[in-house]
Amino acid sequence: MKRKTNTLTTFLVDKRRWIQGITGLAVYAAMSFLGISLWWILGAGALSGIIFGKVFCRWACPIGFIMEVVTGMGGANNKFQGMYQYHKLGCPIAWVSGFLNKYSAFKIKFDESACKKCGLCDNACYLSTLEPAQFSLFKKNKERPGDAYACSKCLACVTACPTGSLAYKPGFPGLDSIGIKGPK
Ligand code: SF4
Ligand code: SF4
Repeated sequence: MKRKTNTLTTFLVDKRRWIQGITGLAVYAAMSFLGISLWWILGAGALSGIIFGKVFCRWACPIGFIMEVVTGMGGANNKFQGMYQYHKLGCPIAWVSGFLNKYSAFKIKFDESACKKCGLCDNACYLSTLEPAQFSLFKKNKERPGDAYACSKCLACVTACPTGSLAYKPGFPGLDSIGIKGPK
C-alpha cells in the first residue's frame, strides 16, 4: 500500500530527475548561448555546498543527468553501485560540495524519538545499502551517510521514512520548521 507522504517532499523527490534535467539544460544553455564561463558555474555549484551540501550533482548538473540515466539502466543494485561510484568520483563541484556535506547549513537530521527502526531509510540509500558496516541513517555507532562525501542529497531516505524521523533542514536554532520532512 502506498504511504501517505508530505506533499512538498513527495513532489520534489518524485520530480527530482525532471528538475535536474530542466536545471541542467538551463546551465548548459547559459554556458553555450550566453557565454557564461565554466568557472562561474563551478563557483556557484561549489558555493551551494555551503548552504545545501552536495546538491548540484543530483538537482542541477547536465552531466549528472546524463550519468544518472546511464547508471540507472541496470536495475536496483547496479544502479546503486553506479550511483555510488559516480558520486565518489564526481568533478570539482562534487569534490568541494561533497567535502561540505559535513559542514553545510542544511543537513539530514534524525529524530530518534520518532524512529521505529524499520530500516526503510537504509534500504533507500545507496551508501547504507552498499556499505552497511560503515553507514546507517538510524543505527547507533555507525556513520551518518548524509554527512559523507558521497551523499548526493537525493533525499530518498527522507521520503522512505514512514514516521517523519528524517528531515532535510537547517541546523540553526529557530529554523527547524524550514525543511523537507518525511511522512508521518
Ligand atoms: S540523501 Fe539520503 S538516501 Fe540519498 S545518498 Fe544521502 S543519505 Fe543516502
Ligand atoms: S525509515 Fe524512519 S522509522 Fe524507519 S529506521 Fe529509518 S529513521 Fe527510523
